[in-house]
Parts: sequence; structure tokens; C-alpha cells
Amino acid sequence: MTARHAAGTIGNNRLMDTLTGIAGRGEFFSATDSMLCEHEQQDATLAVILLNIKGFRSINSVYGYSVADQILRQVAECIQSVKRQQDIAGRVGVDEFALALLNLKSPHLAELAANKLIASLDEILLDDGRRVDIKVHAGVAVFPEHGGTIDVLLQQADRAMYTARETYQSYQIADNSQQTGIVTSGLVRELEHAITKSELELYYQPKVDLQQHRMIGAEALIRWNNPGRGFIGPDEFIPLAEDNGLIFPLTLWSLNTALRQGVEIRRLWPDFRMAVNLSASTLAEYELVELVMRALRTWDTSPDKLMIEVTESAVMKNPDSSIETLHGLRELGVRLSIDDFGTGYSSFGYLKQLPVHELKIDQSFVKGMATDVNDGRIVQSMINLGENFELSVIAEGIEDVQTLYQLKSMGCHHGQGYYISKPMDREKFLNWIADSEWTRPGLPEPAK
Ligand code: C2E
Ligand code: MG
Ligand code: MG
Repeated sequence: MTARHAAGTIGNNRLMDTLTGIAGRGEFFSATDSMLCEHEQQDATLAVILLNIKGFRSINSVYGYSVADQILRQVAECIQSVKRQQDIAGRVGVDEFALALLNLKSPHLAELAANKLIASLDEILLDDGRRVDIKVHAGVAVFPEHGGTIDVLLQQADRAMYTARETYQSYQIADNSQQTGIVTSGLVRELEHAITKSELELYYQPKVDLQQHRMIGAEALIRWNNPGRGFIGPDEFIPLAEDNGLIFPLTLWSLNTALRQGVEIRRLWPDFRMAVNLSASTLAEYELVELVMRALRTWDTSPDKLMIEVTESAVMKNPDSSIETLHGLRELGVRLSIDDFGTGYSSFGYLKQLPVHELKIDQSFVKGMATDVNDGRIVQSMINLGENFELSVIAEGIEDVQTLYQLKSMGCHHGQGYYISKPMDREKFLNWIADSEWTRPGLPEPAK
């Protein structure tokens, strides 16, 4: 069989590669993938060496397919001789081989194996006694350091192999920093595109007055529906935007979209207050106050109908400039809330300096209240703290009716959470306002 014929069997073959007798691509993937699960459970190391024969196409045309086939078989044999019994060897491309080294005591052993393999492949002895010099390049990726799936590991090993070839080395170990750079830069470009191409959307989650049993506003939460990758959550792309200079345009988009849709919502619910999240780097921008003022003017919104949520940890990244910005926003008349309260590391000294109106108790304490008496005590202390500082207190992450009534009886002013409603797109939220028990005055409260 010629190399060309053999190549045709590689892509779909889930079993052995007929030319070399080692695992085909599919078999290599599935065998390694199942070993990854075991390694994960046992906290063990696994490495993948990916190996490519330099200039294989010209070998084909200079020596002919029969010689090319012999070379491929011999490479497979060399790999078999280097591999230990438990390791998995496979032919994963026409001229590409992979060796998965299982249960490695140390990642350095992967380097030793790569060295040994490359040294053994210096010269190939053909069936007719001729010798052919070949050159190979290898890339090495280690689990879990460079990836958690066989796809990612091979991708990383492939990049490392490419670097080895470019830098005239026989092998190269994958580089994590390089990995993030490459994977990210594509996503960053897509995010940049998303801001202008309306792939972003705001969802709204109602905030209610627990004592009056009434909706008071909603938090705008951003969503990115990426056509290629599907849904990407804000926890994933907000840090990306922060690190790549996109957080400012993204914040302006959120702010303006929320205020624009707030105009429509207020037609149904005049007291409605819109809450928007701000992240660390925007808070340190001196222009922010000016931009918020302009957005309020554009959407003809009274400043007290806008609530800005900032986390303690965002403030603490640049405390001086952030506190100055918060003062500027407060002077505008905008309401300010400390989000995820209790999870940061701010001291009471800083709390005293923060010109905020509201403490938003982090959901980790709220979710635990029903089962953990200490979480209940922490929540009660935060409510008391808020009262002592004359701040309004809201609890986020209310997932059941017990927690809702517990918070109400503890004196917590406001609440938000899946029990009241999950975040909804604009249309669903408008319908929710029309139908919800939280917007119908005089209705009895739900059963406890
Ligand atoms: P956050 O501001 O603390 O928002 C609350 C998060 O908790 C939201 O997640 C919300 O969907 C979720 N949540 C609300 N109630 C419950 C509940 O009862 N149970 C559970 N399990 N979760 C609940 P989401 O939408 O994924 O947002 C995550 C974070 O992303 C937000 O945390 C906020 O920090 C950030 N974020 C969202 N939108 C924006 C934005 O437009 N700009 C900026 N800078 N950050 C945003
Ligand atoms: Mg928030
Ligand atoms: Mg929060």
C-alpha cells in the first residue's frame, strides 16, 4: 500500500493503521482520552509527543511511494521500541506520529523520551539495504499543565513542534504563555467584532423589595452569543475584555443599552431603577463620570434611576482612583452598590470611605443560609452593618422561598435570585413585569 493510500485510512480509522500496524488516529484519540480520565482521578502526569517527518512530500516524489511507506513503517517501529508497555503509540496524520507516555513520574521524562526517539530516527535502513537520512521534529505537551483533553494536548504539541522547526531544534516543550496568547487573540478579535455586530445582549434579573413585596428594578447582565462557539458567559469574557483594552467600549455598550431599554421599561414601571455592573479598570478611568453623565442625558434618565454595582475587589485594585470616581458618580446623583459584599478583602477602614448607598450580600452566603447556621449569622451581621452605616442591603442568590422569608424576617431590605426570577431577555422581562406577582399590588404574598 502506498503512503497516499494509507493516508486515506487515517482520518476515519478508529482501529489500527494498516500500513504501520500501530493505532490509527481514531484509536489513538479514544485510547488516550480514556486514560486521561484515569490520570485526572489519580492526579498523575501524562505526556504526548507529536512527531513529524520533515519534507515527507519530497521523500514521496524523490524516492517513490514504496520507499515512503518503508520510512513510515520504520518510524512506527522506532516509536514501538521507545515506548513502554503501557504507553500508546499512534499514526495521527500522513507523516505524523504521536506517543502518549502514561503515568510519568516526572514531566522531564517526556523530554528524555523525545530525545531518545529523535536519536533513534536519524537514519532509516531500507529493505534493499540503502540508508536514508530523515529529519524529524517533535513537540511535547504535558497533562494537565498544557491541556485537559487529548485535542488540546495535541494542539499544543503541534504548536511546540512548529516552533521547534522554526528554531532549528529537534523538539520543543509546549509553552503555556504561548497557548493563552494564541487561543485568546482569536477570541479577542471576535469580541471586538461582537461589540459592533450585536452578538451581545443584556438580560435583566429583577430586584425586589422584600418588605413591601414589590419589584424595584433589575440588574442588567451581559450575554455573548458567539455564532461559532455558542454561549460564552460574562465571567469568561469580561476578564478578557479587561486585559485587552475592550472593557471601555463594552461598558459603554452595556450602559447605553441598559439606559435605552430602561426608558421602555419605565413606561410599564415608572419607579424602575436599572443596575449596571462596572469592572475594575473602568472604575479607574477618570473619564467615566463624564461618560455616565452623557449617557444619562442621551437617554433622558434621572441619575437616581441608575444603580452602579462595583465589587470590593475591583475598588481595591486601584483604591485611590476608584474612590475618586465613585465620589464623582455619587455627586452626579447615581446610586452605588458594593457587589459580592463579603468576598473581597476590604477593611472597615475602606468601607467607611466608600461613598456607596447599598451593600449587596454575596450569593455564597445567601445560598448557604438554609443549611449553614454560620452563613445565617454572617448574613445577619451584614444586614446590621448596613443598618449601622445607613446603607440599604440587598441579598443576591435567593433560590428558595425559605431563604426569601428568612431574609425578610432578618430585616433585609431587598432581594434578587432565581426564586424570584432568573435573568431574562428584554422581551421576557417586559412580559414578566406584566404578569408577575411582584408587580401586582394588593395580591397576597406567596405561601411560606
Ligand atoms: P454579579 O454582578 O454578581 O451578578 C450576579 C450573577 O449571579 C449573575 O451571573 C446572575 O445570573 C447570577 N445569579 C443571580 N441570582 C442567582 C441565583 O439565585 N443563583 C445562582 N446560582 N446564580 C444567580 P452572570 O449573569 O453570569 O454574571 C456574572 C458576573 O459577570 C456578574 O456578577 C458581573 O460581575 C459580571 N457582569 C455581568 N454583566 C456585566 C456587564 O455588563 N459589565 C461588567 N463589567 N460585568 C458584568
Ligand atoms: Mg452585579
Ligand atoms: Mg454579585
